[in-house]
Amino acid sequence: MQAKAGNLLIGGGAPVSVQTMYDSSLASSDAGSVVERITKLSLMGCDAIRFSYISDDDSKAFSYIASHSPIPVIADIHFDYKMAISAIENGAAKIRINPGNIGAQWKTREVVKAASDYGSAIRIGLNSGSLPHSDLNKSKPQLMVDTALEYISWFESWGFTNTVVSLKSTDIDETMEACRLFASLSGYPQHIGITEAGGPVISAVRSTWALGNLLREGIGSTLRISMSGSMEDEVVAGVELLRTLGLRKKGVRIISCPRCGRHAFDTIGFENRVRDRLLSVDKDITVAIMGCLVNGPGEARDADFAITGMKDKVYLFRHGELVSEINPADAERILFEAIENE
Ligand code: SF4
Repeated sequence: MQAKAGNLLIGGGAPVSVQTMYDSSLASSDAGSVVERITKLSLMGCDAIRFSYISDDDSKAFSYIASHSPIPVIADIHFDYKMAISAIENGAAKIRINPGNIGAQWKTREVVKAASDYGSAIRIGLNSGSLPHSDLNKSKPQLMVDTALEYISWFESWGFTNTVVSLKSTDIDETMEACRLFASLSGYPQHIGITEAGGPVISAVRSTWALGNLLREGIGSTLRISMSGSMEDEVVAGVELLRTLGLRKKGVRIISCPRCGRHAFDTIGFENRVRDRLLSVDKDITVAIMGCLVNGPGEARDADFAITGMKDKVYLFRHGELVSEINPADAERILFEAIENE
């Protein structure tokens, strides 16, 4: 089965997509600046972005962003079905709801009707901590899956199938078990992720383990690497995970040496400065950032471009051959000029 959020296809053989979530209040954000940031995230490989839609104060900025964003915009709704309808009317390509938090069934039905009228997708987002009822005879994954299937049957009885499901727990094993069980029982696309995953390094490790295994098994149509970190880091982690699994081929691959006692070039500082810009380049190339002139070029000989240096000189290599000796202040500019001319 396949869902459609704006121009993004989810599931049914479509490429696995990467999402992130906007980290500030919509009402207090400058919508034009948000669109600029989304545009950069899109160039880095982000396929959709979600916003908390909390009150009517969010509608103006949301509407502007939804109509100017280069990627589909999703609204995250917690309790108020009226906010879900408002978000749909203001251009949400998809909304995320937990029908159990919306209240009476007729309210969910109103939301589904609006989504159907406006062509929006709906993600049924269930967390193990917010299930509508407990059953001591069922494991949490079983309860999550049964609850999702029950909501899907409501939606289907109202003629709506543009649906994605997410089943999340802070416990990784429970999350994986729920996703596997759901996949064995239903063909609806799944949004996969680990909730409350931690800071960038910890969340990247935890998410890679869980989502990597699921994706290898063919489970998961769209993902978010949630982290207590920046949206850019979430997107980089998601895209890199897909590339590592061979599920995404396009884009710049950055490699850098681990550094050792020979280290004479500030690989960390240089990578921090150029990473997001490099990842926005629409070319299938590898760029190596190496710590020393002694071994670096040799270790990076397979890269399309390698950069390394000493304190007062930087060296640019192309396919293992030295092409220029550069003043450190010009390194970034000359690297990007070389890439552009490739
Ligand atoms: S490139 Fe140089 S600094 Fe980096 S790990 Fe190799 S020898 Fe060490």
